[in-house]
Amino acid sequence: LAHSKEDVLKLAEENGVKFIRLQFTDIFGVLKNVSITVKQLEKALNCGVMFDGSSIEGFVRIEESDMYLVPDPATFTIFPWHSRDGVEARLICDIFNTDGTPFAGCPRYALKRVLKEAREMGYTICVGPEAEFFLFHTDSNGYPTTSTHDEAGYFDLNPLDRGEDTRRDIVSTLEKMGFEVEASHHEVAPGQHEIDFKYDDALTTADNVVTFKYVVRAIAQLHGLHATFMPKPVFGIAGSGMHVNQSLFKNGKNAFFDPEKPLQLSETAMYYLGGLLKHARGYTAITNPLVNSFKRLVSGYEAPVYIAWSPRNRSPLVRVPARRGEGTSFELRSPDPSCNPYLAFAVIIKAGLDGIKNKIAPPPPVNQNIFQMTEEELNRLGVNTLPQNLGEAIIELQKDTVVQEALGTHIYEKFLAAKKLEWNTYRIQVHPWENAQYLKKF
Ligand code: GLN
Ligand code: MG
Ligand code: MG
Ligand code: MG
Repeated sequence: LAHSKEDVLKLAEENGVKFIRLQFTDIFGVLKNVSITVKQLEKALNCGVMFDGSSIEGFVRIEESDMYLVPDPATFTIFPWHSRDGVEARLICDIFNTDGTPFAGCPRYALKRVLKEAREMGYTICVGPEAEFFLFHTDSNGYPTTSTHDEAGYFDLNPLDRGEDTRRDIVSTLEKMGFEVEASHHEVAPGQHEIDFKYDDALTTADNVVTFKYVVRAIAQLHGLHATFMPKPVFGIAGSGMHVNQSLFKNGKNAFFDPEKPLQLSETAMYYLGGLLKHARGYTAITNPLVNSFKRLVSGYEAPVYIAWSPRNRSPLVRVPARRGEGTSFELRSPDPSCNPYLAFAVIIKAGLDGIKNKIAPPPPVNQNIFQMTEEELNRLGVNTLPQNLGEAIIELQKDTVVQEALGTHIYEKFLAAKKLEWNTYRIQVHPWENAQYLKKF
C-alpha cells in the first residue's frame, strides 16, 4: 500500500487536494506541521522543505537552526473532513540537517535506528497499541473541563450519550483514512473510551498513533467535546493507558511462538521478556513522561505498579495474551498515551533486543494477585516496583545506558534536561491537598 512519489502526485491531483500538511513531532511527541500548497508538492517530495528548527522544543541551538523536512511518500493521507479552503492531505516527514545527514533530534529517526538493529538480527517487529482517552465537556468559553454527562462504564452501550456518537464518528473517520479499527468501546471510567486499530510494523504504528491522536482531538472538537490523552485527569477514577502489544517475526514466522516450549513461548520470547522487565525502570521516563503519568501507576485502577509478568493475570506489567501461533505477543501495560510513540517504541524494543542479545532470563511468572501480597511476599519473590514519580524515573533513566542508546545522545540530553526542569518546577508547588491536611493542624 505504500505510495511512491508519483502516486502521491497523482492522488493529490485526482482528489483535488489544495493543501498538504508536512507533519513531524518534537521530542515530546507533540505534532507539528508546516503547510504547503499543492503547487509546492513536487518540489517538497524531491528536495524537502527547509524550516527553522530553533523554535521547536528539544531540537537545536539558534546558530544551527536550518533543517529540512523530507516527506515520506508512504504516509500520504487525505483528511476526510473538509476544511473551508478545500481538500487537505498530510505527509509525515523525516528531519535532515542541511548537509543531508539525518538529524539526531528526530524521534522517527531514533525509532528507525532501533528497527534497523532488529532487522540486522533478522527480526521485524509488529506493534499494536490500545490508546485510551477521555471525552470531556468544554465550558461556555470553549475551555476544556473534566466533567462529563456520561455515566456509562466498561463496554456499556449508551446510545443517548454524545460520547458514543463522537466515538463512532472518530472510528469512521479513521477507517476513511485507511485504519483498520478492530475494536472500540467505552472504558471503565465515565467519559473514558478506547479505540484499537490493527497492529503493523513498529514505524507505521508510531505514525498511526500520532495520526490517531490528531483525529480523536479534531473529531471531538467538531462535536463540541474535548478529547484528552492526559494519563490521569481525575483523581479517584481510572486513568488512561496505552497498552503496547508486541510480536517479533523472523522469516515470516512469529518468533515468540514455539509449541514445544513451556507456555508455547520460544527461547527468544523469554529473553525478550527478560529485557522488557530488566529495563522497565530505565524506560519509564519515556513511556510515562509526565508528572501526571505517575498518578495513574497506582493500585486499584488496572494500571501496573510492580515489575512482574504473568500468562494469566491482568494486573502485572507484562501480560501474555492467550492467543498463540502467529498471534503470540506480549502486552506491556505501563505506557500511557502522553508518551512520544516513536521514542516509546524505540526504548521498549531496544530493551527486548537487549534481552535477546544478552540472554536475559525473566524471573518466574507471578500468577497470584500481586496487589494483595504483603511487602514480605513481594520481597521474597524479588518483585520490584516501577518508579513512583517522575523524579525517580529520571534517576533510573540516567542509570540505563541501553535506554539512552536507543534515544541517542542528542535526544537523551534534551529530554533529560526538560524533564528535570518539569520535575523541579512541580516539586516545589504547594498542592491544595497539603493545605487541606496541614493548614489547620500545624
Ligand atoms: N485504564 C487502565 C490503565 O490505566 C487499563 C484498563 C484496561 O484496558 N483493562 O492502564
Ligand atoms: Mg484493551
Ligand atoms: Mg483498555
Ligand atoms: Mg489491553
